[in-house]
Amino acid sequence: MIVYQVKCSNGHEFEGWFRNSGVFDQQRKRGDIDCPLCGDTEVSKAPMAPHVARSSGRSDATHESTKEAPAQAAATIAQLRTYVEKHCDYVGESFPAEARRIHYGEVEKRSIYGEASSKEVSRLTDEGIEVHQLPTLPRRND
Ligand SMILES: [Zn+2]
Repeated sequence: MIVYQVKCSNGHEFEGWFRNSGVFDQQRKRGDIDCPLCGDTEVSKAPMAPHVARSSGRSDATHESTKEAPAQAAATIAQLRTYVEKHCDYVGESFPAEARRIHYGEVEKRSIYGEASSKEVSRLTDEGIEVHQLPTLPRRND
């Protein structure tokens, strides 16, 4: 028997036991493996270490990642920043206040970005306000 950490397309992870890796692929193709949380059959094998940090963690568990990964990550972050800068209003340090006004419907809904400390971000999140933290690029090459 082999145990896999399995992940559905909604990001739920669960353990599945299979006779061998071929059985996993067969069952997955037939849609026999479904997520116990949402019933999704679009599943894939997740990394075996159950607590791999997906964003910034640099534990030994990530040793499989290739050398291209950091460059790809930087490109993704750069794209994300460009997108945000193009499509969102910059509100600077009034970000937490502005995010609240939008959330509570005091002003028209729009996408904003600005500065907020991690403490402010977690307070906003506690209030149920959707906040995404932009990762900072290690360095810019321009
Ligand atoms: Zn699921």
